[in-house]
Amino acid sequence: MNSITEILDELRIPYSHSGDHRNVREGFVGIDCPWCGHENGKRHLGISIEDGFGTCWQCSYHSLASILHTISGLPYDRIRALLDGLPQTRLRKKQVHRGHLRLPDGHSYINGAHYRYLRGRGFDALKVVGLWHLGGFTLHPQYNWRLFIPIHYRGEVVSWTTRSTGRVESGKYKSATPEQSVIPIKELLYGEDHARHSVVVCEGVTGVWRIGPGAVALFGMAATIQQVKKLSQFSLRVICFDNEPEAQRRADKLAELLAPYPGKTERVCLKSPDPGGATADEVAEIRANWLS
Ligand SMILES: [Zn+2]
Repeated sequence: MNSITEILDELRIPYSHSGDHRNVREGFVGIDCPWCGHENGKRHLGISIEDGFGTCWQCSYHSLASILHTISGLPYDRIRALLDGLPQTRLRKKQVHRGHLRLPDGHSYINGAHYRYLRGRGFDALKVVGLWHLGGFTLHPQYNWRLFIPIHYRGEVVSWTTRSTGRVESGKYKSATPEQSVIPIKELLYGEDHARHSVVVCEGVTGVWRIGPGAVALFGMAATIQQVKKLSQFSLRVICFDNEPEAQRRADKLAELLAPYPGKTERVCLKSPDPGGATADEVAEIRANWLS
């Protein structure tokens, strides 16, 4: 087999290309997710043609082998034999490796305190933790009880940040330095792997958790050139910054930077102070207007 679509054809798995289905982004083929959307026609599970990873809007990352095994029922050794035929250059040629990922010592699974924090902020904690692969710290000299937030790009963790779960601690976010990252965080969009044709652009990761797949975050209110270039590749970008004057000025600036590129840039300002604290109605409206 020379390509992912040949394998899907061989296994008689229905799929759509970008352009044929609104939920399928360029560079991906879309299939119905066998875990959460079996044969519903929504094509929520995108498989990256270049990199071979799968990402679902509802249930996050899946390996190509587990996707094919789950849908076809074929044993893993048969699936691996099919995948062995895929040229490795096709799967790897765009992989960027500029630095070495160094994860902070002491990060582990989320525990009760982290769940309480997420629930206290009104998140569906289990869903957020599962979709965004969150971890946590316990007692720690630098990252005391923080959430550990891995940052994925093309299915791999390339950097990370942490978020305070207390009220007294200074510095809401403490992030990997460029030296600790494969790609520095300010050259990434949080949530990019899950985005399709349109993106809702937030400042921080909590906005992405609240709005869900299709939202991306800049890790701050100033976009770098690299982030603007990434955003310009989506045909619709909707800027949704915090509801305060400085953030709105930055949102104006970002809209201006995106204006020369093809596609459309829209602005939305919520009644809630920030997208991370958006109400269920606000989220439903955003998703219906821009991400459905
Ligand atoms: Zn799914």
